[in-house]
Amino acid sequence: MPDTKTVTRFAPSPTGHIHVGNLRTAVLNWAIARKAGGTFILRLDDTDPERSKDEYADAIREDLEWLGLTWDREERQSTRLDRYAAAADAMRASERLYEAFETPTELDLKRKKQLNMGKPPVYDRAALALSEQEKDRLRAERGGHWRFKLDHARIEWTDGILGPLSIDAASVSDPVLIRGDGQVLYTIASVVDDTEMGVTHVVRGSDHVTNTATQIQIIDALGGTAPAFAHHSLLTGPQGEALSKRLGTLSIRDLRVAGIEPMALVSMMARLGSSQPIELRGSMEEIVAHFDLDAFGVAPTKFNVDDLKPLTASYLAALPRAGAEAEIAALGVPEESRDAFWTVVRENIATRADIAGWWELMQNGASPEIPEDDRAFVAEALALLPPQPWTEETWGEWTAAVKAATGRKGAALFKPLRLALTGRTTGPGMGDLMPLLQKGPRV
Ligand code: GLU
Repeated sequence: MPDTKTVTRFAPSPTGHIHVGNLRTAVLNWAIARKAGGTFILRLDDTDPERSKDEYADAIREDLEWLGLTWDREERQSTRLDRYAAAADAMRASERLYEAFETPTELDLKRKKQLNMGKPPVYDRAALALSEQEKDRLRAERGGHWRFKLDHARIEWTDGILGPLSIDAASVSDPVLIRGDGQVLYTIASVVDDTEMGVTHVVRGSDHVTNTATQIQIIDALGGTAPAFAHHSLLTGPQGEALSKRLGTLSIRDLRVAGIEPMALVSMMARLGSSQPIELRGSMEEIVAHFDLDAFGVAPTKFNVDDLKPLTASYLAALPRAGAEAEIAALGVPEESRDAFWTVVRENIATRADIAGWWELMQNGASPEIPEDDRAFVAEALALLPPQPWTEETWGEWTAAVKAATGRKGAALFKPLRLALTGRTTGPGMGDLMPLLQKGPRV
């Protein structure tokens, strides 16, 4: 029975391209919704008008579509500002939201003083002691921002990945929900959306654990029900180094341009950091069928971009012709040769970009560089090469004749002949390839 109540969301800020770090969050939330037959929301966290750009929102949609991570609904925070204002009003009325006036420099000074005294750098709530006159004066002078007044109790939840968590609210600064210029910040916008959109499960990076603690209290203050939270460990580089600085070069679009297959990426992200091995899947349905959030662990997760290469090659090697029809047709491979062409090529490409090189070879023949020692042998062998058309038997017949004439055998026989006909030292079975070669080598 599909559980139509399950609602998850992927909530990127359209301030840049999505990268492998975000992708993990997207895949986990998507898979939870799909597994339950629920709803997956794409939510654009675009309350920052300066940094949010439509071109990034378009790019995020395009990347998700390319990955096959379909969403059922799209929401934009910038269209919901009235909802956040209403929530803020409600919290002002219940005295959970208070105006504070410290400048960033003043806050910094306070933090340094606290640290010097060996105290945690938690906001001291000095604003709560201001009189109405003082507030009026400060408001006129510099404008105020709005903080949520945490209830100084322990905040507890059972995290879907980290297990039971307990955070002392007194160790956390009252979060700023609305900036001096009126800009609504992520913490409140996210809570209002999650509550009003009926989000039931939130999976995000473990850098959000403290946010979650404060958000649980804000949800309470607004009379909502907290979703189930799970925080996945952050990705690191292969040596355990922080990946944050490199994420700019690990955008989904860069990987796409590099020829990485979406199924390789999604297969990896649905398993990386879990106790289950990474297994290449052939479809999104298979990803969902084998997905298990309970298998994810707390340890930092090592990510090596090079691991996507063998997954991509394996995916292509098993891909039916229909999956590469666009590329095959664009090259102008005649209909009657397409099956044979793809069967020969698919196991011998690293990415789709390599398909063209094989067709080029088949149409125009190779221009091999034969090592000095083999030149006389290759010339003698080519003189024995039967005229076209070549069949599946041609390779066997030809190499037998060359063997008889020259006495060469094994690798010494086959390798230079493969090189002569293809310009490469490895590749498909020559019996299968020869019927597709339309020209002999240009030697
Ligand atoms: N826009 C936030 C981010 O990208 C969303 C975090 C969340 O999932 O709540 O970090």
